[in-house]
Amino acid sequence: MEIAANASLTLMTLGDDQAEQLVAWCSTFASVSLCSQWEAVDWAATDLIVVADRSLWMTTPVTHIAQRRIPYVVIGPRDESLEVQAFAQGACDYLQKPLNPAICQMRLMLHLQNKRNRDYLESLSLTDPLTELANRRRFDDALFQTYKQSMRSQLPCALISIDVDYFKHYNDTYGHLKGDLCLKRIARVLDTAGARPFDVAARVGGEEFSLILPDTHEEGALQVCSRILNGVRELAMPHSGINKPHVTVSVGVAVIQAGPECSLLDWPERADRALYQAKANGRDQIVNARELNLERV
Ligand code: GH3
Ligand code: MG
Ligand code: MG
Repeated sequence: MEIAANASLTLMTLGDDQAEQLVAWCSTFASVSLCSQWEAVDWAATDLIVVADRSLWMTTPVTHIAQRRIPYVVIGPRDESLEVQAFAQGACDYLQKPLNPAICQMRLMLHLQNKRNRDYLESLSLTDPLTELANRRRFDDALFQTYKQSMRSQLPCALISIDVDYFKHYNDTYGHLKGDLCLKRIARVLDTAGARPFDVAARVGGEEFSLILPDTHEEGALQVCSRILNGVRELAMPHSGINKPHVTVSVGVAVIQAGPECSLLDWPERADRALYQAKANGRDQIVNARELNLERV
């Protein structure tokens, strides 16, 4: 059985003999970390959890595992009621002691492979294939999460809408393949413009992009807008037949604090209105929704 490189397995154990043996068996196909308490688990770096000790299993932070959607396997005695309990609690498998090395290996490899396949499909379903930015689905989710977070934290957050100027003309002049390449290069600018880990750059339509900036004040958001505008200008991609020699973008930004003043639906509406104003003003520029008095959109 083939499994993806760098698969990582965490073995929760209080020193059970057979569990220790398991480390040697599993090390042939995964990197194995030993842990004796839940607080020490490196959740971000593990693909599969194997719980070898009953007392650890009984204190499994089930919701913790469910939220992170990391599969876990329980090792226990030959006891059907315990096995049923383990599955009811959310385990994806139950390995009976005494452990058989070949069966353990095959079953754990299968769980790791399933987890890797699921991660891969999930990332495909959330990624725009042309630009490799977040797609519309991930954007909608991130917008909702950022709004909720702003409601809780009472901190402002920003949404930037970006549209490529005269892009139909670009395609008509240089062809669709060049057009696609142009979108890819603009996407890289957006990806680096928002430098924080929770910033989300997305392609939301053909030549339309968005950037979500959680916990960001107006000043910071406008800096990011400038990085986008200047970054695209600096790409200096020739665009003949329009009033500028190079490809440019128009940018609208709406910085809000979630709550009664601005609903989740109002927020993108404000950023889009600002973007349309940037188009109407002559393109290749930034418009701030606040300056348009769009608070009541
Ligand atoms: P404006 O400055 O007002 O935004 O004008 P525009 O020409 O950019 O806007 P319009 O909406 O008229 O045209 C958008 C064009 O974007 C239409 C289509 O040719 C192009 N486009 C949309 N999606 C893709 C894509 O995936 N690849 C390529 N190459 N072009 C695309
Ligand atoms: Mg457009
Ligand atoms: Mg356009």
